[in-house]
Amino acid sequence: MGIDVTGKIVIVRYGKIFRGNKVKNAMLAGAKGIIMFSDPADYWATGVQPYPDGWNLPGGGAQRGNVLNLNGAGDPLTPGYPAKEYTYRVSPKDGVGLPKIPVHPIGFHDAIHLLKNMGGQIPPNNWKGSLNVSYRIGPGFIDDFKNQTVRMNIQTNNQVTRIYNVIGKIRGALEPDRYVILGGHRDAWVFGGIDPMSGAAVVHETVRSAGRLLSKGWRPRRTIIFASWDAEEFGLLGSTEWAEERAVAYINADSAIEGMYTLRVDCTPSLHTLVYDLTKQIASPEEGEEGVSLYESWHKRDNWTNDRDAPRISKLGSGSDFEAYFIRLGIAAGRARYTKNKKTERLTEEICTEHLTAGTEAPEEMKMYEVSFVSLFSAVENFTVAARDLHERLQTLNRADPLQVRVMNDQLMYLERAFIDPLGLPGRPFYRHVIFAPSSHNKYAGESFPGIYDALFDIENSSDPEKAWEEVKRQISIAAFTVHAAAMTLTLPA
Ligand SMILES: [Zn+2]
Repeated sequence: MGIDVTGKIVIVRYGKIFRGNKVKNAMLAGAKGIIMFSDPADYWATGVQPYPDGWNLPGGGAQRGNVLNLNGAGDPLTPGYPAKEYTYRVSPKDGVGLPKIPVHPIGFHDAIHLLKNMGGQIPPNNWKGSLNVSYRIGPGFIDDFKNQTVRMNIQTNNQVTRIYNVIGKIRGALEPDRYVILGGHRDAWVFGGIDPMSGAAVVHETVRSAGRLLSKGWRPRRTIIFASWDAEEFGLLGSTEWAEERAVAYINADSAIEGMYTLRVDCTPSLHTLVYDLTKQIASPEEGEEGVSLYESWHKRDNWTNDRDAPRISKLGSGSDFEAYFIRLGIAAGRARYTKNKKTERLTEEICTEHLTAGTEAPEEMKMYEVSFVSLFSAVENFTVAARDLHERLQTLNRADPLQVRVMNDQLMYLERAFIDPLGLPGRPFYRHVIFAPSSHNKYAGESFPGIYDALFDIENSSDPEKAWEEVKRQISIAAFTVHAAAMTLTLPA
C-alpha cells in the first residue's frame, strides 16, 4: 500500500503468525516502536461472554509472549553452546534475535482509543477486525487529531538468571544407550492453565505410571528420559540448552489439552505409522463411542482428505521444546494434543503453498537461468526405492538376533539425522534440517524444503534475478544431495 513507516510507531493486530515475525517485519520496515493489540475478531468465540462472565478475552486483556527471533539459537547470549557459568557470553546488544525497538502488547479497550481517530486509507475488508472503528491504516490521525502523537515509555530489565530443568531417567534393560525423551515445559505466563500445565500434567502422570510399572518389575527396552523444561516462554531456552545427541525419539507435551473435540498430532513422517498403530489400540475418550478406537474417532473428526484417507497429521513448525531435537539435531519428534474444532488453521500454509507453486510455475525464467529440479526428483526416486527395500527387509528380519535388530533400528534412527546439514539453512545456522524448518514468515508453521522455498519466495521482485536464481540452483543441489545421502543410510550395510 506504499505506506512509509520509517521512524514511526506502528500498531499491529495479533494473530495468524508468530508475534516475533511481526516485530521483525516492523523492524525491517524501519518502524521505531510497535504496539500489538488483540482484536475480538481473533480472540472471541461466538456466543461466549468476555471474562469474568465467560472465557472470551476481556478488553483489558493483553497477550504476553516473547518476541525473539532466535531461529533455534536458545539463550540469546550463548548461541550454539550450553549456557554454563563459564560459557562465553556475547554482550546483550549483540544477543541473537532480541528486538531493537520497543514492543508492547495492549488490550482492545486501549487500542480503540488509538484506532478510532486513525487517518489514511480504508484497508481491504480482511484486514478489519470486529471493533467499532474504521481500521484506517494511517499514517497519523484524522484532521481534528492531526497534532496528536503516541509516546512509548517502556521499562525493560535485562538480566542473566539461573533456570532449572528437572530430568528423570529410567535405565533401559536392553539398549540403555538409546534414549526416548518425553518432555514439556513447566514455566508459564501467569498461571498457565492450558499452556503448559495440561502438558506438564501429562508428563507427571506418565512418570507416575512408569513408576508403578517399575515397582511391578517392568523395565523399558530403551532408556526413558523425562524432562520438565524451564524458560520455554523465553525462547525454548531450557530444552535447547540441554539438547542431547543420542536420542531415538523426542515426544513433546505442551498445552496437551487445549480443547475437547479431537486428537491432533504433529510429527515427523517416520512416526506416522507408529502414531496410527498406537491410536488403533487406544479407546476413544468420547462419550457414546464405546468400543470405538481413538484412531476411528480422530479419523471421523479430522480426515486428511486431500492427502489420504486417514486422520490428519501435520508438519512440526516451532513454538515449543521439540525444536532443538528435531530441527537442530535431526531426532524424530512429535507432539500430541487434544484440541478444539478449528477448520481455519491451515490458512497460512495454503497461502504459502500457492506462493511456492507460483514460483515454480515460471518456466521461462527457469529456462533462462537453467534451473532444473531433475537432480532432486531423481534423489527422491532413489530414496523411494531404498525405503521400499528397507521395508521388505523389515518383514524378514530375524527379531531373535539382537544385533540385526540393532542394525535396523540404527538405520531408522540415523535416517532423520541424515537430513541435517551441518552448515544450516541460509542465515539460520541452528535450523539445520533440509526437509523441514519453521517458516521464515511464521515460526509456528512448518515449511517443507525451506531452503528452496525461501530462495523462491518473492523472487519475481528480486533486485538481482540472476543471483536469486543461482541461489535457487544451490538450494536444489543441497536438497538433492541430502535426500540422496538419506537414501544411502537405508541401504543394506556392506
Ligand atoms: Zn507452552
